[in-house]
Amino acid sequence: MNRFDYHRASSTQDALQALHAAPLQSLEAQLPRFMAGGTNLVDLMKEGVMAPKRVIDIGQLPLTEIRELDDGSLWLGALATNADTAYHPLVIERFPLLRSAILAGASPQIRNRATNGGNLLQRTRCVYFYDAGVPCNKRLPGSGCPAATGLARQHAILGSSPSCVATHPSDMCVALAALEAVVHVTGPNGDRAIPFADFHRLPGNRPDLDTTLAPGELITHLVLPPNELQAHGCYLKLRERASYAFALVSVAAALSLDDDGRIAQARLALGGVAHKPWRDLDAEQWLIGQAPTADTWRECAAIILKDAVATGGPALPESLPGNAFKIPLAERAIVRALELALAGIPTNTGEDAFRALGAQEDRAPTSESP
Ligand code: SF4
Repeated sequence: MNRFDYHRASSTQDALQALHAAPLQSLEAQLPRFMAGGTNLVDLMKEGVMAPKRVIDIGQLPLTEIRELDDGSLWLGALATNADTAYHPLVIERFPLLRSAILAGASPQIRNRATNGGNLLQRTRCVYFYDAGVPCNKRLPGSGCPAATGLARQHAILGSSPSCVATHPSDMCVALAALEAVVHVTGPNGDRAIPFADFHRLPGNRPDLDTTLAPGELITHLVLPPNELQAHGCYLKLRERASYAFALVSVAAALSLDDDGRIAQARLALGGVAHKPWRDLDAEQWLIGQAPTADTWRECAAIILKDAVATGGPALPESLPGNAFKIPLAERAIVRALELALAGIPTNTGEDAFRALGAQEDRAPTSESP
């Protein structure tokens, strides 16, 4: 049995002090942890992947607010649930891309419990990471990466390292990357703001570190700057089954058009392909001024995937290396997401898809699905 202290924090300051006062631990897995909805941490503790000696429950802290700021930005409390965020009128009206991404993730029950801050901090779903009986550099640095030559169907095609080929599992974070969210944190050295692009890390030689949070820092809220991308956005998610599965590949795409019908702004982020939500600024820049055509989408996909590589070993003697299929899948997903974004169809999944596809049947793209 893994015994641990449980402390329910009464304020942000109390939470920080409780973390600071926890006994020192040499093993990373035993460090004290904040717990919000607990939808990932409790799983990791049950699997023996994490064994914190102190759990600080922050679920009662007043960090649930969702509101508009004077400059039109959106404040999202770290402890607002994913469901409350997706169904908030301001999110529905102003950030439909975020709503689509949240509703593509997990299940309604989990979205009712999972929080915005927790969504950012969830760990990879690499099967080896969850199996405490095998080596894993993310769990125990220097122990090895069995996914590099093993089962890697869910693993990275971009930005991986010899140390780790895991992917980040979040859908919400893919939209937050495209929307250029800013993560606000507080900690022993005060408050700071982290641009979303700098919040998650690529694995390098420290795959045990998922984010750039300093020890003891707590996410308090996110801020989403206003944008002009509401009319042409789409979160497309491709997975093994129709619901409650992590993305093989997902794409958050958003566009705005100028008076000539050419692309004025573009945002693109991919999920399921890298250790962090993958955003390619070169591809976004290249899209500006282009005509929104099938050739443009294909060329954009080629730019994003030019350095993509398959990882993993053959699951069967006659099969391709573990995740080689993801490269053409990602190419088609990018093209399809841009088509749907242009048509103003916000998602390929869930209730929104039925509503949008039903309402816009005559505008639905006609090219082949991925
Ligand atoms: Fe561990 Fe990363 Fe390798 Fe998975 S891919 S086994 S998380 S080191």
